[in-house]
Amino acid sequence: PMKQRLLVVANRLPVSAVRKGEDSWSLEISAGGLVSALLGVKDVDAKWIGWAGVNVPDEVGQRALTRALAEKRCIPVFLDEDIVHQYYNGYCNNMLWPLFHYLGLPQEDRLATTRSFQSQFDAYKRANQMFADVVNAHYQEGDVVWCHDYHLMFLPKCLKEYNSKMKVGWFLHTPFPSSEIHRTLPSRSELLRSVLAADLVGFHTYDYARHFVSACTRILGLEGTPEGVEDQGRLTRVAAFPIGIDSDRFKRALELPAVKEHINELTQRFRGRKVMLGVDRLDMIKGIPQKILAFEKFLEENSAWRDKVVLLQIAVPTRTDVPEYQKLTSQVHEIVGRINGRFGTLTAVPIHHLDRSLDFHALCALYAVTDVALVTSLRDGMNLVSYEFVACQGQKKGVLILSEFAGAAQSLGAGALLVNPWNITEVAASIEYALNMSPDEREKRHRHNYAHVTTHTAQDWAETFVSELNDTVVEAQLRT
Ligand code: UDP
Repeated sequence: PMKQRLLVVANRLPVSAVRKGEDSWSLEISAGGLVSALLGVKDVDAKWIGWAGVNVPDEVGQRALTRALAEKRCIPVFLDEDIVHQYYNGYCNNMLWPLFHYLGLPQEDRLATTRSFQSQFDAYKRANQMFADVVNAHYQEGDVVWCHDYHLMFLPKCLKEYNSKMKVGWFLHTPFPSSEIHRTLPSRSELLRSVLAADLVGFHTYDYARHFVSACTRILGLEGTPEGVEDQGRLTRVAAFPIGIDSDRFKRALELPAVKEHINELTQRFRGRKVMLGVDRLDMIKGIPQKILAFEKFLEENSAWRDKVVLLQIAVPTRTDVPEYQKLTSQVHEIVGRINGRFGTLTAVPIHHLDRSLDFHALCALYAVTDVALVTSLRDGMNLVSYEFVACQGQKKGVLILSEFAGAAQSLGAGALLVNPWNITEVAASIEYALNMSPDEREKRHRHNYAHVTTHTAQDWAETFVSELNDTVVEAQLRT
């Protein structure tokens, strides 16, 4: 039989594109979890639709980029600088991102955002319509269209207006907040209604799905059922689909000679000390200052550990042009400096803080040599770092300290030490507990998490979502 075609629509294509000449481009595929997940889905032929992350004002450049991307199964949506500014930086990142993560804004920023709200929301709708135009131009009967994330909440509605028979799914990679938060958005109803145009709506956790359904019942007055949300006899199916990782990719990496050598180097380098690890984008949601303060408290209270433990914090720069993020960077630097000044010696410091990303193999080696991983997100849709750490711990069986506000707490709660990152006393106590944990308990906790991470992969996630979407559409046809 012919493979079913899957159109994956996300704000960003999984490539970085660099222009080399008037009509030539160099492309690099970003081999993230989502890419390998979707490439691995059985009996499905996937194509990506999205923005390439570059401004291409001229037609020659656009045609050349379209041709180059086609070889990578990617189809570009071209957004000009003004739209990117208002839709992406503005509405998506300054409005939806903080709101969905329960982040408050400083008062002046809040007023500024309130003032620019309407023009940003208009740009958001226009951008979503541009995505819909491209999807529609490539759509063939029977295709499944899978829309991703908070950037594209308007897309399901635009697509169904083109063609009510299109099979449309939408998945949110962030948390969906309580209806009490969602209802503060001026566009609260319009956003919910456009998402509801989809046949299937998915979230990482049951809690996020429940929040979405209550927003629909409380704000729109619709009926919530165990299956989803009903509007005049039409059902939008709502369910939880926790994402996973491609755990084999990590296990394979650990077998490479270069990675093994790197693991040996790191082991030598930190001999005699326990290694604690944090890996985060430097974002407010990750609770990096909270994590470092908890580590400081631990050192304060456990003087015997001061020269026997080191915290490696990888803080990947993100949105570096935004003042809020610059402020967070200097805040973190200040705390790290203070603690290293306070507890460091002439030859060693307790915290190694890096403001940069690592390549995949270096990251795997780091995960593998870690004794205790610390994830202290204040809110996090899922948090894949916690999964990746577990996947790399087959040998070491280290401990995961995990924020209860990360989606991953729902799936790794049995093996991890769950903490409230706002409670520094509790996190410090968990660090102490983790470092002193008996090998038996470590092994048992690790086994739980490892079994979960290796059996709930990104590929299973994608397959489940797509097959559920197909089923939902069949059931809807049977009902009418
Ligand atoms: N990551 C990376 N390079 C780094 C550090 C992290 O590629 O130097 C990756 C990491 O492997 C993980 C992703 O960034 O897949 C972070 O995903 P997560 O869900 O933890 O958080 P997000 O950044 O999406 O909020």
